[in-house]
Amino acid sequence: MLTPGATIGILGGGQLARMLAMAGARLGLKSHIFSPGANEPAFDVCAARTVARYEDEAALAAFAEAVDVVTYEFENVPARTAEFLAARKPVRPNPRVLALTQDRLVEKRFVQGLGIDTAGFADVADAGALARGVAKLGRPSILKTRRLGYDGKGQILLQGGADLAVTFRALGGAPCILESFVHFSKEISVVAARGVDGEFRAYDVCENVHEHHILATTTTPANIRPETAARAALIARAIAEAADYVGVLAVEMFVLDHAVGPIWERLVVNEIAPRVHNSGHWTLDGATTSQFEQHMRAVAGWPLGSTRRHGRAVMSNLIGDDANGWRELLGEEGACLHLYGKSEVRPGRKMGHVTRVTPEEP
Ligand code: AMP
Repeated sequence: MLTPGATIGILGGGQLARMLAMAGARLGLKSHIFSPGANEPAFDVCAARTVARYEDEAALAAFAEAVDVVTYEFENVPARTAEFLAARKPVRPNPRVLALTQDRLVEKRFVQGLGIDTAGFADVADAGALARGVAKLGRPSILKTRRLGYDGKGQILLQGGADLAVTFRALGGAPCILESFVHFSKEISVVAARGVDGEFRAYDVCENVHEHHILATTTTPANIRPETAARAALIARAIAEAADYVGVLAVEMFVLDHAVGPIWERLVVNEIAPRVHNSGHWTLDGATTSQFEQHMRAVAGWPLGSTRRHGRAVMSNLIGDDANGWRELLGEEGACLHLYGKSEVRPGRKMGHVTRVTPEEP
């Protein structure tokens, strides 16, 4: 267990690292950010920084020497970097989690292996395998690169008539997974934490709306049946326990209207994020313990905090030019504004978010 004054090393310097560092500072924990970028949002708020490539072993060794525990804000940390650091200091969540979540095929097999539903899928190594996959799963279906996809990048919706060889080449010939198209009624996520001692706590289920493949809003609690919410939390718990997870994770799921037997809403897991997640940003203003504090507590080996909600929370991302509305938002009663300190506004870039928490009817 770390004590106040200890230093947590964070790989990555974006807004998630920035909010982790701020939450840690409130509890007397210092953050040391390691990032290849020279101008990172987290640099404004950290105690120390290393600007180096993730392959730079001398820089990694010095970083490991300077910190008490290592964590990360993104799942695409190179496996060798995580292993190199894990040989020197505890890395939380453990590097095996990265191997599980970096590859959509490995991730889906892991989830199915726990008896949890995913979309139907097929391994697509070449155009021939794509034809066999389409024969099995039908159209529409979605072709995704196995690795390095985010916010809808690296995926193509396959509709009737699309030429399969051309589609496969459009993703650069990279190893892919074909997924059956899920006709969902809602997208939800469970943001939860597991401590070093196995303690598990989940926030209330979040309901997410995406626009152009980027999260637009999160509303908590999700408008789902209570038994669906309970099942969603159990799914997140089963995943966290099977991965021997330490820290905050998010499990994104689709809800399908089902009404068969006792199950009214079916849950299908889409993706696991081994980190704090955009759909958990509302917790900064809407819960007793934010997801960022919760993650810092978990990786420090501390007890987890209360996940109690203060009300109904609606979080809206400020994407690109949306952030130019900051003056009006500052003047809005009840709007909690967060800006990430990014110097350049770019279309599609997450610049900040705003959360509105309102009391719930008793
Ligand atoms: P992902 O990159 O897997 O998180 O997918 C981004 C978004 O694409 C999801 O949030 C869904 O809105 C949509 N999507 C992904 N996979 C599927 C699927 N198998 N069926 C229907 N929609 C999907």
